[in-house]
Amino acid sequence: MIVARGLTKIYGKKAAVDGIDFTVEPGRVTGFLGPNGAGKSTTMRMILGLDRPTAGTVTVDGHRYADSPAPLREVGALLEARALHPGRSARDHLRWMAVRNGIPTARVDEMLALVGLEEVAGKRVGKFSLGMGQRLGIAVALLGNPPVVVLDEPVNGLDPEGIRWVRNLARDLAAQGRTVFISSHLMSEMALTADHLVVVGRGRILADCSMSEFIADHASSYVRVASPQRGEVADLLRRQGLDVAVHDEELRVQGLDAPSIGELVGKSGLLLHELTLVRSSLEDAFMTLTADSVEYSASPTAGIAR
Ligand code: ADP
Repeated sequence: MIVARGLTKIYGKKAAVDGIDFTVEPGRVTGFLGPNGAGKSTTMRMILGLDRPTAGTVTVDGHRYADSPAPLREVGALLEARALHPGRSARDHLRWMAVRNGIPTARVDEMLALVGLEEVAGKRVGKFSLGMGQRLGIAVALLGNPPVVVLDEPVNGLDPEGIRWVRNLARDLAAQGRTVFISSHLMSEMALTADHLVVVGRGRILADCSMSEFIADHASSYVRVASPQRGEVADLLRRQGLDVAVHDEELRVQGLDAPSIGELVGKSGLLLHELTLVRSSLEDAFMTLTADSVEYSASPTAGIAR
């Protein structure tokens, strides 16, 4: 279990992480979501004792990770842009990590097989693609068979098969009762992987809830209505107390299901050309939730010559 209380990191005058509280429970995948610059990596570095909090605390299974006598056996971590010795082979890198952490070297080949790097185990790490580097990083993370696994943007650079593999691995690790904490800036990926979500923006918690609660609270839907008598249809629906927004050629109606809207319009004798239930994606919901907390967002017209 990972517990953060009032966790804060200030760089200069800027709070990268601004007094956050959250708990990562064992036995489920917790997704740590937020736009770039939200404070995810900084939080993860503090969990791992690589950055010291300006205020507050974060503990792993009851104590500070920096105080752990056998770090790799307690927490397996993949951090973004992990520094690897470029001249060393993948196998030698894992052996070196195993020896330094008192882990039997027999575990090295098991991990190479698990992450699918057996065939390139003798190849120099400097020649690895980003995806292969990520797989090696995950092998290091799991080397000590740790009860807690922290992965920072693990699917960066992976192909679709690799992304599916990480997703299944995370779910398996959680099913084994481990604490699994995974960061991402992509909602769509987390929707398929995480049971629980901690969403951050500008260093603050925006949501801390189950994936199903997040979907219920944030994924909205509306009925798209097209009619050659748009104005009359809009008036009719508004008179029924429905929320009607006009978008170009269509009406977006909330507050009633599509069949009932169809019946209402039909009874009035007005014409309908389309009636469709449209669900907004979770990615849209996430973008809306974090819209005010995106550090650098492109203006829609930026770069377009007039
Ligand atoms: P994320 O992982 O969510 O993309 P980060 O934790 O990397 O976000 O960064 C959070 C904020 O802290 C950003 O504004 C970033 O520029 C700033 N930041 C991160 N590390 C440092 C550092 N070492 N020095 C100064 N500012 C930093």
